[in-house]
Amino acid sequence: MRSGQICAAAPLKPRILLVEDEPLLCGRLAQLLSDEYLVETAPNGREALSAIMRTLPALVLTDIVMPGVDGIELLKALRSTRRTQGVPVLLISGHALDEDRIEAYRQGADGFLAKPYTIPELRARIGSMLQAARRNEEAANELAAQQALAERAALLECVTDAFYALDREFRFTYLNHRALDHFGRTAEDLLGKVIWEAFPQTRGTLFEQEYDRVTREQHPVEFEAASPISGHRVYVRACPTPQGLAAYFHDITDRKRVEEQLREADRRKTEFLAVLGHELRNPLAPLRNGLQILKQHPATDPTLLGTVAMMNRQIAHLVRLVDDLIDVGRITRGAFELRPQQALLCAILTNALEASRTVIEEYGHNVTIDLHGENPCVNCDPDRLVQVFSNLLSNSAKYTDRGGQIGLSLRCEGKEAVVTVEDTGIGIPTSALEHVFDMFARVDSNVAGDREGLGIGLSLVKSLVERHGGSVRAFSDGPGRGSRFTVRLPIIDVPAISAATSSRPTMGM
Ligand code: ADP
Repeated sequence: MRSGQICAAAPLKPRILLVEDEPLLCGRLAQLLSDEYLVETAPNGREALSAIMRTLPALVLTDIVMPGVDGIELLKALRSTRRTQGVPVLLISGHALDEDRIEAYRQGADGFLAKPYTIPELRARIGSMLQAARRNEEAANELAAQQALAERAALLECVTDAFYALDREFRFTYLNHRALDHFGRTAEDLLGKVIWEAFPQTRGTLFEQEYDRVTREQHPVEFEAASPISGHRVYVRACPTPQGLAAYFHDITDRKRVEEQLREADRRKTEFLAVLGHELRNPLAPLRNGLQILKQHPATDPTLLGTVAMMNRQIAHLVRLVDDLIDVGRITRGAFELRPQQALLCAILTNALEASRTVIEEYGHNVTIDLHGENPCVNCDPDRLVQVFSNLLSNSAKYTDRGGQIGLSLRCEGKEAVVTVEDTGIGIPTSALEHVFDMFARVDSNVAGDREGLGIGLSLVKSLVERHGGSVRAFSDGPGRGSRFTVRLPIIDVPAISAATSSRPTMGM
C-alpha cells in the first residue's frame, strides 16, 4: 500500500495513523486493521507529522525505530503542540527492553507494545486506548460545559436585577441570590418547584397571566406590579427561552416613592403659583385705580408726569406677569376654560399690537405689518389669542436692543393661517430653541443681559395655541441674529373677507 493511502473507507470508523517504515509490514497491518478502522499510513515520523497536521487522527500507532524522525521524536513533537498533545500514541518496539518502555512512557506515550505481538493483542490495545481517549474527551467536554455554566451563573449573580429561570412547566431551574433574597427562600427550597405552587399567592395574578402569555406567544413582556410575594413594587421583564422562560426584575418601590414625592412637590408648586398670582393681583387693582385717578388730574411738573408714565408702564408689565402666572396655574390644573367664537384674525392682531404698544414704544422699535390682504376667520377665544400675540410681540420688544425692527405678518397656507412675529434682537442659540416653550425656561446667555422674566410667557403661548388646534415654532439663526416665532391656526370656512388693514408696509410705534 502506498504511503498516505486510506484503506476501507467507512465514515463512522475511527481514523488511525499507522507509521511504519517497513512497506510490507505496513501494508499488511493496514489491511488487517481496515475492517475496524479508517487507516492512514506514513513511512516515517516527518510524513506522519504532516498527515496529523492535516487531519487529527483518533490514534497514532508508530514503530519506534525508523530512519529520520523516529517514533520517540514523533511522540515528543506531538506532545509539544497544543493541537496534537491529546492524540493517543501507541508505540511499537522491536524488542521488549525496559529502557525502551520507560523512555516511551516518559515522553508521554499512552501505550507500548513490544514485538512479537499478536494481532488480537494489537486490536485489544488500540480498542482500549480509543475507549480511554473517548472517556477523557467526554470528561473534558463535561468539565467545559460545567465551567461555562458556572461562568454564566457567576455572571447572573453579578447582574443587579433579580433573575430566575423556569422550565416549560413553570418549575424553577435557576435563581440568583437577589431573587432568593427577594423571595426570602433558599435555592434548595425552590429549585424544581412550580412557581405557582411554591407561592400560591401568585395564582391568578398579573404574573401568571403574563408568564402564560410569554410561553404561549413566545414574545418578551415587561410590566410593573406589586409582588404578591414581597409586597414590593417590581418592574419585571420576562422572555421566552428554549427551556421555558427567564424573568428579570428589580424593586422599584423607592423609585415610585420618589416619583410620588416629586409629583406632590409639583402639585404644591402649582398650588403655590396659583395662590401667589391671586395674592399679587389683589394689591394691583387699587394701584391701577390710583394710577387712573392720577391720570385724571394731570400734573404739569415734568418729574411727576414722567413718574406717572413710568408707573403706568411698570404696572402694565406687572399686570401681564400676574395674569400669565394665574393662567399657567389654571392650565396646569386643567381648570382653564376657552370661550370660543368665530373671530377675524386681523382684529385680534390689531388688539395684540395695542396691548404691546407700551413696551414697544418704551424700546423705540419700528414695527412692520404685512397682512398680505388676508383676514381669515378662526374659531377661537379672541382674548386668549390676543394674549398669545401680545406675548410674542412683547418678547420681541424686550429681547431686541433699542430702536430695533419688529415684523408682524399674516399669510394663509391652505386651511391654515400663519402668523409670524420676528425681530432683529438678541436671537436664540440653536440648542435652546426647543426648550424656550418649557415652563420657567429662560435662555441662559449673556446676550439676554438682565432682561427680566419668569419664563412662563412662551409656555402659555404654546398651551393656548395648542388648545386652539394650532402649533407654534421658534426659529433663530443664533445669538445676535434675531428670532422668529410662527403660529399656525386652523381657518374656518366662511366667505373670504379682505383685511381691514390691508398690507400696510410699516408702522412706526
Ligand atoms: P420670559 O418671561 O423669560 O420672557 P418667556 O417664556 O416669554 O419668558 O420666554 C422664555 C425665554 O425665551 C426667554 O427668557 C428668552 O430667553 C427667550 N425668548 C423669548 N422670546 C425671545 C425673543 N423674541 N428673542 C430672544 N429670546 C427670546
